[in-house]
Amino acid sequence: PGAPPMLELRNVQVLYDRAIEAVRDVSLAVPEGQMIALLGSNGAGKSTILKAISGVLYQENGEIMSGSVALDGKPISGLQPGDIVRKGIIQVPEGRALFAQLTAEENLLMGGITRSRADSRAAMDMVYDLFPRVKERRHQTAGYLSGGEQQMVAIGRALMANPSLLMLDEPSLGLAPQVVDTIFDAILNLNQSSGVTVLLVEQNAQLALDVASYGYIIENGRIVLDGTVETLRKNDDVQEFYLGMS
Ligand code: ATP
Repeated sequence: PGAPPMLELRNVQVLYDRAIEAVRDVSLAVPEGQMIALLGSNGAGKSTILKAISGVLYQENGEIMSGSVALDGKPISGLQPGDIVRKGIIQVPEGRALFAQLTAEENLLMGGITRSRADSRAAMDMVYDLFPRVKERRHQTAGYLSGGEQQMVAIGRALMANPSLLMLDEPSLGLAPQVVDTIFDAILNLNQSSGVTVLLVEQNAQLALDVASYGYIIENGRIVLDGTVETLRKNDDVQEFYLGMS
């Protein structure tokens, strides 16, 4: 038998308010070094799947998860979010959630807070190479950056933590096409040149199928279809409902 995939979900179910089934029986795998896409429309359950992986569902709030999440074959479901981050699973949340009063550079530094000064410095140089625009704007307060610049800072902040698995929640949301291209070029570069494994959540199927190797389509909390991006692109339903062809 081969090595287990880097990340594996088995039969994951998530309830909100103890009763609303947001994720139903989801099993998926993210092999090391690949970029895997989760596609689906608004409210399909994509963000909830990321929450289940990051450990940010709270039973006391009626958020109940069952099934298993494993990293390199070892269960991580039930760990505290901080412990999951320390294992190298870093999420870039939808809406970016930067510290609006801090500068771009201070936001980056927050991402590297658990690392040595030297490691943090090296990571920051890497982020500035990847996003020269962030370097130019490093002393600007994050709240005053454009949407695209904020997304770059958010990705940069995640990279400061030296992720082995980077989870991106809708990085294209609300951004102009040109900025989206810049950001997706950077994501592709990270995956292909730096070997960062990526789990990409996107509503924009066209974009996601261009950069990922394999995709899962989520509808009403369930995986309704999965396959290589080549297979998905040829699928009639994908063409009609996700790629807008007919
Ligand atoms: P989006 O792109 O809008 O974020 P999504 O595919 O990520 O969509 P989720 O945010 O995971 O979808 O939501 C899945 C379902 O769970 C939706 O029906 C949503 O209304 C519901 N839901 C999400 N968060 C909560 C919550 N905190 N309490 C109750 N229901 C929730």
